[in-house]
Amino acid sequence: MILHIDMDAFFASIEQAINPRLKGKPLIVGSRNSKMHTVVCAASYEAKALGIDSGMNSNAAFKLCPALEFVAADQGKYIWTSEQILEMISGYGLEVAYVSIDEFQIDIANYAQPLALAQDIQKQIYANFNITASIGIAKNCLLAKLASKLNKPNGITILSEENLTEILGKTPVKKLCGVGAVTEAVLTGIGIKTCLDLYEKPPQFLEQIFGKNGLNLYANLHATERLNQNQGQSPGEANDLTLTGTVPSDKPKSIGHSYTFPMASLNTGFIRAWIRLLSEMVGVRIRQQNLTAKTVHLWLNGPEIGNFLGQKTFQQATNDSFEIYQRALKIMGKRAQKMPKIRALGVTCSNLTAQNYPPLFKEQKRREELLKAFDKINTRFGEGSIYPAITDLTRRMK
Ligand SMILES: [Mg+2]
Repeated sequence: MILHIDMDAFFASIEQAINPRLKGKPLIVGSRNSKMHTVVCAASYEAKALGIDSGMNSNAAFKLCPALEFVAADQGKYIWTSEQILEMISGYGLEVAYVSIDEFQIDIANYAQPLALAQDIQKQIYANFNITASIGIAKNCLLAKLASKLNKPNGITILSEENLTEILGKTPVKKLCGVGAVTEAVLTGIGIKTCLDLYEKPPQFLEQIFGKNGLNLYANLHATERLNQNQGQSPGEANDLTLTGTVPSDKPKSIGHSYTFPMASLNTGFIRAWIRLLSEMVGVRIRQQNLTAKTVHLWLNGPEIGNFLGQKTFQQATNDSFEIYQRALKIMGKRAQKMPKIRALGVTCSNLTAQNYPPLFKEQKRREELLKAFDKINTRFGEGSIYPAITDLTRRMK
């Protein structure tokens, strides 16, 4: 038996938990800090009740509810909470799997009192984090995940042999993980409207429609499984991301680049362009090794300032060159208000860990795709085939 935990409106609930002013109010968490021009990446239940949900443009959300509360997403906070929850449920001594930032599965095998366990987990999560979770229990991962969605928020659904037919018969097929709009249309086209309709089809039938995926779907629906078996086979099912990545010893501790000018410069644009270029070079190397960095170091050397060494550790790890550049500028702005004469400079990233989390938000996903395309072009056509315009200034010696 599998117990699937799905946090309710996770990001929005965390924001409401730490800021009582937001409690009970319609709230959206935006993927970036631009109230009217972002995508809703989480909506509180109060907002959901008004027809607002993730994926929507914030602009449209505000049209539905002008009094909507807005918070910009803080990924570090959500990851931290997720890790704490995982640690807490690992304390039960059962086998636990991380499914996504707000979903976890526990192999409860033949645990005698699954309902009591589910209630206790809900209680502990609420007591420790002031947020709620919905829990589904079923014979396999796919059905347990489905069950967790049937009684939200703060619900518990147990799919047993006795009630399976009844509950699946009431559940639209689109609720099943992996059934998107396209698949749903195909299924309803052939008369499969509920999860039960799908559940009752023989494997050959599903194979005819979906090929090999159909057989996997059948296996996932009917399996009586232990944790991690068959995971990742059905479309959209859990992946096997690990939470805490440690860098193997052959990985570097830090990655950096520096440059010395032929003569000291006072030109802010020129110096910034160089910081950007060095950040770019550092970012490329970090990404090549599938790492992310939490700490950025900036080294400036000049006749007046001697050696200036600044560093800052950020909550969110990054391998985005532009982000590294922004962080380096923050460090510079902090201690070097007026740009001094600079003769040499360097950008280094440390606190490197394996990249564990896929991007959570639409904007980040787009950003990651952009970086991938950028790296691909430079790999294929040679370094410097494509570069940020500002780095052009580095070619003008001043
Ligand atoms: Mg959730």
